[in-house]
Amino acid sequence: MVNYLRAYYYLRMLMRRAYWPRERLLKHQNKKLREIIKYAYENVPFYHEKFKRAHLKPDEIKTVDDLSKLPIIRKDEVKQNLKRMISKGYEISKLKMLRTSGSTGKPLYFYISRKEDEYRKARHLRANIACGQKPRDRWVTITSPIYFNQATRLQRLLRFYAPMSVSVFNDVSTQISIISKLNPDVLDGYASSLLLLAKEVEKRGVKTIKPKILISGADLIDPASRKYVEKVFGVPFYDQYGAAEFERLAWQCEEKNLYHIDADSIIMEFVDENGEAVASGETGEIVCTSLFNKAMPFIRYALDDVGMLSDEDECPCGRTLPLMKVMEGRKDEVIILPGSRAISAFAIIAAMYRLSFYNQIKKFRVIQKGVEHFKLLLSLNEDGLDEKAVETELKQVFIEALNLKSDEVTFEVEFVDEIPLDKSGKFRIVISEVV
Ligand SMILES: [Zn+2]
Repeated sequence: MVNYLRAYYYLRMLMRRAYWPRERLLKHQNKKLREIIKYAYENVPFYHEKFKRAHLKPDEIKTVDDLSKLPIIRKDEVKQNLKRMISKGYEISKLKMLRTSGSTGKPLYFYISRKEDEYRKARHLRANIACGQKPRDRWVTITSPIYFNQATRLQRLLRFYAPMSVSVFNDVSTQISIISKLNPDVLDGYASSLLLLAKEVEKRGVKTIKPKILISGADLIDPASRKYVEKVFGVPFYDQYGAAEFERLAWQCEEKNLYHIDADSIIMEFVDENGEAVASGETGEIVCTSLFNKAMPFIRYALDDVGMLSDEDECPCGRTLPLMKVMEGRKDEVIILPGSRAISAFAIIAAMYRLSFYNQIKKFRVIQKGVEHFKLLLSLNEDGLDEKAVETELKQVFIEALNLKSDEVTFEVEFVDEIPLDKSGKFRIVISEVV
């Protein structure tokens, strides 16, 4: 059960920090960094060994600039060392397990403490408030059922972090009728879901969905599609950049230009292939260090993504949190199911969560070859899973999640060692070849 009083305290603190003078922010970052480094060295076997191997003592990391002395860690390494990444100070059974969205095609489980959970919720709220959400607004989010918020009646009454959820698995017509009833002030969801919704709202001339702001995270759509969504609903559409391992990382304020980095809670580096910082205005790989999560610290963790620190250092909103640019996103992927049912490609990714062997998946890709034909490429850890059983479960889960009749669609499963990147160098997880 989340302690909402503490989350509220965090929120108040976070709101103030967003306006701190830069020197104060830097001092805070360095202090928190020293704390987490020392803590990880003393309590987390994985980092203790990492430091030893790099011949480093924790007190050699004094400031953010010293971080480059540490090796960068990647998702595969975390997956292989999951148990050894949990702090000795925590019992795994008392921690909350979360998983990455899998949007990079490499799902990962990880753990957070209750305090971290509350802190994350406060950070999420700070980002939403920065683009206009008011504390008692009716907040509706289109998401996967595993992320549905389990708010108590009291929380609903107080409307403090009590978003109402609509399933990403519902087809767009069902979503329209649910959202109309919920009557949101703030409508939040995957950008591709909101795009799909906008298209249907326009087509049918729906007048019953009247949010005052739209917010998206998790996946990006192209700027023209974003403008289209704004036009259909007649309200601004803000974007937030995040990763499940860290929650929100950067977000657009009401100025809706660049993204403020959560720099009081996360150290975000933009690095070259040698792990050295690139100059502001130059594209670099994004590497993050959480300054808060002690249960399972993430120190110099690569996000499999690129971005850049902005040249512009000041935002007209007055917040002093540094600004970044997020790279232009993937084109929206829409999956058309039999009966012309359109669903967001994210529903396919979310369906994968339901698999009992989800954590054994190294990488996956779903290719829609035709309206009635899906091909799944699957690369598994070598844990001797029975391929036949995997195939049966996959089909069953997809049929259920996407609300299909069992003979409506054929699924072809191919087990592979590696799944190549696209020509662009990006890894796309859902590809539709249906025109
Ligand atoms: Zn701003």
